[in-house]
Amino acid sequence: MPFELNPSSAARLLDFFRGRRDGIVALTRALCERESPSGDLEGSRAVVDLLARASSETAAITSVERIPAPEDYGEHLRLHAFGDGASAERTLLILGHTDTVHARGSLAERPWRESDGRIFAPGVFDMKASCAVALEALRACVELEMQPRRPVVLLLTCDEETGSLSGRELVEEEARRAESVLVLEPPAPDGSVKTKRKGTGMFSLRAEGRAAHAGLEPEKGVSAVLEMARQIERLHALSDSSLGTTVNVGVVCGGTRSNVVPAEARAEIDVRFGTLAEAHRIEREIVGLVPFDSRAKLSVSGGINRPPLERTPAVAALYERARGLAAMLGFALGEASVGGASDGNFAAACGAAVLDGLGIEGDGAHATHEHIRAESIVPRGALLAALVASL
Ligand SMILES: [Zn+2]
Repeated sequence: MPFELNPSSAARLLDFFRGRRDGIVALTRALCERESPSGDLEGSRAVVDLLARASSETAAITSVERIPAPEDYGEHLRLHAFGDGASAERTLLILGHTDTVHARGSLAERPWRESDGRIFAPGVFDMKASCAVALEALRACVELEMQPRRPVVLLLTCDEETGSLSGRELVEEEARRAESVLVLEPPAPDGSVKTKRKGTGMFSLRAEGRAAHAGLEPEKGVSAVLEMARQIERLHALSDSSLGTTVNVGVVCGGTRSNVVPAEARAEIDVRFGTLAEAHRIEREIVGLVPFDSRAKLSVSGGINRPPLERTPAVAALYERARGLAAMLGFALGEASVGGASDGNFAAACGAAVLDGLGIEGDGAHATHEHIRAESIVPRGALLAALVASL
């Protein structure tokens, strides 16, 4: 019989997570105490070891694949549950990552610490606690006989924090087979899930002029710095706040000495956009930049990095489902739109309905005060299990 969340199954689900809370905290601690900054093979393997071992104790999990990333970067982990992944049936994808931004040695400086209901540790919020909770959500489905409607895939990549160079292909492969995608990234500070994320682009613009003596014959020179200054005005004017498009020239350099007309200048540009149409508009504009001074030359490299996660009707419907389940579990679930991108962006571009920010609540992702709120383990875990069972 398909699972329905009602007051009695909601109470059982919350009870299950209350009973498992200490176990979740213990696994989270073990994960945090194995440092796994992106690109650290040994750390990545240690974390994947722990998760693979925990998976073997979970009856629903039918296969555990460790997929080495090229150049000894780390290991991606892919689990199949409630099905072997061989059927053509559309899946439910749970998406996360095991790498962190915290360099090795951060743990010695900021060891695991529990205080005032908060748990501090490098990578605990983004997102080791949520990896532990995801396994527990699968276990809850087995133990409470909440049979999910679809085969479930849990994919934890090892390179998300550095742009998912090799993880991207796996994310896209799984997202194309998925009906819905649940992303374990941290929620907004008030616990809201993320239904809209901007896409990102990175461009580099180079201006070439001609050097000359600034005092003797400046007329023979073509200033690359002046050309760049004019282009920067043009670039910033591409921003459109009504559409959420931003263009930021974050780094500029050029010239050699003050008495030389500069022959070269370079700018690094960060672009954020809410729709693919805007991404393409900005890309066209930047690639098509024409010099103000016809004697100068411009060249552009880079491009769109992550497509936007747009709040499509399917995303909105998924959020409504989650909001309803959360209400039955006793809490209000808001939604937020953010400028930062995640692997959810790649999944959304494959056409799947994506709900992002389903991780444990906390604050300080990537910062020294990174922590989770321990009291959110039970309700967020129950919500994730209810979603897994009912989508
Ligand atoms: Zn993350």
